[in-house]
Amino acid sequence: MIEDLDTMAAALFADAVPRGNFVPKIGYENELSPGRAWLRRLAARGWSTPTWPAEYGGCDASPARARQIRATVVRHRPRPPELYAFGIGTGIVGPTILTHGTPEQCAKWLPPISRGDEIFCQMFSEPEAGSDLANISLRAERFGATWRLDGQKIWTSRAAYADWGLCLARTTPDLPKHQGMTMFVIDMHDPGVEVRPLRQMNGDARFNEIFVTGAVVPDAWRIGEVGAGWTVAMTVLANERTAMAAARSSAHRDSGRREPEWLQALAADGALSDPVVRDRAMRVYVLERVAAWTAIRAATGTGMGAAASGGKLRQTRVFKARAELIKDASGAAGMVSGSGGDRDFLTAPSMSLMGGTDEVQLNVLGEQVLGLPKEPRLDRDVPWAVSRRGLL
Ligand SMILES: Cc1cc2nc3c(=O)[nH]c(=O)nc-3n(C[C@H](O)[C@H](O)[C@H](O)COP(=O)(O)OP(=O)(O)OC[C@H]3O[C@@H](n4cnc5c(N)ncnc54)[C@H](O)[C@@H]3O)c2cc1C
Repeated sequence: MIEDLDTMAAALFADAVPRGNFVPKIGYENELSPGRAWLRRLAARGWSTPTWPAEYGGCDASPARARQIRATVVRHRPRPPELYAFGIGTGIVGPTILTHGTPEQCAKWLPPISRGDEIFCQMFSEPEAGSDLANISLRAERFGATWRLDGQKIWTSRAAYADWGLCLARTTPDLPKHQGMTMFVIDMHDPGVEVRPLRQMNGDARFNEIFVTGAVVPDAWRIGEVGAGWTVAMTVLANERTAMAAARSSAHRDSGRREPEWLQALAADGALSDPVVRDRAMRVYVLERVAAWTAIRAATGTGMGAAASGGKLRQTRVFKARAELIKDASGAAGMVSGSGGDRDFLTAPSMSLMGGTDEVQLNVLGEQVLGLPKEPRLDRDVPWAVSRRGLL
């Protein structure tokens, strides 16, 4: 079976493929082209999204077979280009459309996602709706076969170059907050969509605020039933946490057969001759491996909600511990911007926020795994329009 995959991979990579680490730049075409070329190549065999049906760009692989495919690809090309721009489509929106979309919607969006031709962003958070996502106020009003969307989103990663946004909107303000929402796909090139980049402390300006003013969305782009937005959103969040855990895991990158690159780099620098650094490195390595196995378990479907939250928490812990270790091991040089690992060090705090904060993941585990009482919700049966928004 593996040999069979190896033969296919050898044929797939027979001619030149972009190699080497890709350095992200704000010039988006520069950033997108290598990843796009890579995905197109993999998609020729259905390997960019292996678990998807073949008619939508996958190859009908089971999760176990998909892992074998990814490991084979890593063996043949250990350093793929940066795929950050495409991750929402391939890891989060695609699987959500497969679950809740119509066959027409699957046929429209999934093949271009799998080839990297079209990029999605995830339009959930708003200034008054982050952890309390059900509090969103971006409004969608129906006019016959179309909807008009008005409102604001914030912290939207990838929006500046996205073609489509998966947008959670308020459709019935008179219902309690969890019941009056609907999910749409919005065209990011619509004249009613204005995207403004925001810069993070790690220098990255790939997340954005979005102002939506009278954007028109056909009803055919509604994902799920009117009023079922919360159910669709929960699928998105579970997919997001699973994808984040898997992407951050070294399982796919080093296929578990050799030490991860960060450990090899520490060894090459001689940092491991210090017993304190060596001890910390081994602790991080153990955390990383356990997190990788947890990610695999979450991805193979043994409980999306709690397993995905646990996997995301573990990966956050690993990311922070590794970033701090590499920073500390580089000594005084580590204080200089542009030194090895400074980007991860400055990115580490955001890992506790994106995809749901650590506290929110702990709440999920407390309620779903430990059986602790649910948080008190004073607004459960109150129409959203009259609830004390942002305070509950
Ligand atoms: C790098 C990055 C990328 C992002 N990309 C996207 C994106 O593409 N699309 C998108 O929609 N959003 C995105 N986000 C937003 C992210 O989902 C939110 O930041 C997150 O949900 C937290 O919301 P908030 O920032 O409004 O914080 P708040 O919800 O205001 O939380 C503030 C603090 O209160 C705590 N808190 C809140 N409620 C509870 C509670 N019930 N119990 C205990 N503690 C609580 C939180 O843990 C946190 O510490 C991104 C964020 C980051 C940092």
